[in-house]
Amino acid sequence: MRMIMTADYEEWTDEKGRMHIRSNEGAKCPVWQSDLKVRDSKERIVKFPNRPGKTKLAILRMVCKSCGTLHSELPYTVAPYKRHARETIESVINEGEESPL
Ligand SMILES: [Zn+2]
Repeated sequence: MRMIMTADYEEWTDEKGRMHIRSNEGAKCPVWQSDLKVRDSKERIVKFPNRPGKTKLAILRMVCKSCGTLHSELPYTVAPYKRHARETIESVINEGEESPL
């Protein structure tokens, strides 16, 4: 599973208290610059540096129309500057990593 970081996104919280994000940039496969088709979403527990406690994040999983790779879209805020947040989210994702399709 590959991660696509997005800095320009909408976020909202559903009735179950899960946070969702959707990129305004139009996610593309970083390798082929191809469109991605939404497949499903996976719930992950994420520690945001700018939020107290842990956040349930519904991460969108998308399949590349060219290479078939499964990509996940993540808000940039969880990774770039805060070492702790990056380690947290990487370990959470590696734990539940699945082979694409
Ligand atoms: Zn691709």
